[in-house]
Amino acid sequence: MKHAVVIAGGGPTGLMLAGELALAKIDVAIVERRENQDVAGSRAGGLHSRTIELLDQRGIAERFLAEGKRMPVAPFAMTMLDLSDLPSRHNYWLGLFQERIERLLADWVSELEVPIYRGRSVTGFAQDDDGVDVALSDGMALRAEYLVGCDGGRSSVRKQAGIEFRGWDASTSYLIAEGEMEGEPAWGIRYSGKGIHGLGKLEDGKRVRLVSAEAELRQGDEPTLDDLRKNLVAVYGADYGVKNVTWLSRFTDATRQAATYRARRVLLAGDSAHVHSPAGGQGLSLGVQDAVNLGWKLAQVVRGTSPDALLDTYQAECHPVGARVLERSMAFTALARGDDRTLALRTMMSDLVTMDQPRKRYTALISGLDIRYDLGSSHPLLGRRMPDLELVTESGSRRVFTLLHEARPVLLNLAEPAVLDIAPWANRVKRIDARYSGAWELPVVGAVDAPSAVLIRPDGHVAWVGSGTDEGLRDALSAWFGAPEPKA
Ligand SMILES: Cc1cc2nc3c(=O)[nH]c(=O)nc-3n(C[C@H](O)[C@H](O)[C@H](O)COP(=O)(O)OP(=O)(O)OC[C@H]3O[C@@H](n4cnc5c(N)ncnc54)[C@H](O)[C@@H]3O)c2cc1C
Repeated sequence: MKHAVVIAGGGPTGLMLAGELALAKIDVAIVERRENQDVAGSRAGGLHSRTIELLDQRGIAERFLAEGKRMPVAPFAMTMLDLSDLPSRHNYWLGLFQERIERLLADWVSELEVPIYRGRSVTGFAQDDDGVDVALSDGMALRAEYLVGCDGGRSSVRKQAGIEFRGWDASTSYLIAEGEMEGEPAWGIRYSGKGIHGLGKLEDGKRVRLVSAEAELRQGDEPTLDDLRKNLVAVYGADYGVKNVTWLSRFTDATRQAATYRARRVLLAGDSAHVHSPAGGQGLSLGVQDAVNLGWKLAQVVRGTSPDALLDTYQAECHPVGARVLERSMAFTALARGDDRTLALRTMMSDLVTMDQPRKRYTALISGLDIRYDLGSSHPLLGRRMPDLELVTESGSRRVFTLLHEARPVLLNLAEPAVLDIAPWANRVKRIDARYSGAWELPVVGAVDAPSAVLIRPDGHVAWVGSGTDEGLRDALSAWFGAPEPKA
């Protein structure tokens, strides 16, 4: 069976990437080991602002907002930081467990008619100059132009591609569990020398979710109920009669990143490209961001409108973003230790980060809204995400994000209609003439000069900024959306 792109793994990253490719009308298929979209335990607990914006850019954010809980704060150590003045429509964290997130993404992907080969794994592949032969566990063979490993932290695609997974070994392991407890456990967060411990009620108000650092680092084996009971007694002095445990797992703060996100026709995205402690709740959001950065580029390369080299910009842009998340997650682990010196550091950092400027910087960072790709420095918008402005167009008022629903590039002209000529790219780039008279405010940067036009990539990042002329526009169009089409 042939497909243009085969994605190994239908978790959040693989599903998002499949949606992006399907929107671009690319023949994409997912191979997923699980029989269905059930997720063991609750895993990720929600979405950060920029990730909600990405869903909004595709017109599906409402589905997630309808099921999640908006929380206008972000935790930092023992402090809650206000998110409500983030310059985004989605100035909050959306509490929503991974199972719901995956189901909503899977529904979208199914509407886009992406085939999913369920209940089988990618077991091997061989690439040549024209494509990749992909072997599945049931003996089926697929042929694709590109294979993307979205197959999680233990990615067999990454291993088989021989891509190094560089980083730091685990320093702490945590038990995570869901079950029932008797009496009134010590709800909330507490610290011990090794790390953090938390007990909270699940959505049904009866069952408990707990995360608890272990006294000794353990990895590589499945925890037992006995491990859980002993840990509870060591930390709380009681095991609260823990029973009916429906999920018991162990995770560590191992922090690793693939040395490269690409080996010729094989690419990596999501946890297969980076793993880190769940502290800060950034893993799932980062995978979705990878997928949205890669999707349109891969679509253009498969379609032949852009050279293969466009795929190298995925590595150039996303690898540093991932490295920054890894660094941050290690800082969170360090701050979560319970010894007196770390407590002193945590108190000092909490004091500093509640000051206005550090808070703004930190909340933009953790929400992903401050991401800037290095596309030049002629205007602060370059390489940053386009804000969701309320525009006035010939057909009425439109939000910028609604222009991106089809995952196509947009030239947004905010000045005189005649100045910009994009005729040789007219089949690929949507041109919109509009008016906007409000302020331009970017996270962290603040107010910026209003541009006369912007070229917006399908991932919502700004590729070119006009200041009354079309200087540089043709170069940007060629670089990002392929050579000009000859006149018919
Ligand atoms: C205990 C725990 C708690 C977490 N808490 C948070 C949190 O609070 N916030 C947060 O943002 N993140 C959290 N994470 C991380 C988050 O769950 C991941 O970052 C996210 O799931 C990554 O998505 P992914 O699609 O890249 O990988 P995964 O979700 O791992 O998906 C990989 C998919 O590939 C499939 N697969 C694997 N191998 C193959 C193969 N060979 N062939 C075919 N299919 C294959 C798997 O079945 C799976 O569906 C947590 C993770 C764990 C383990």
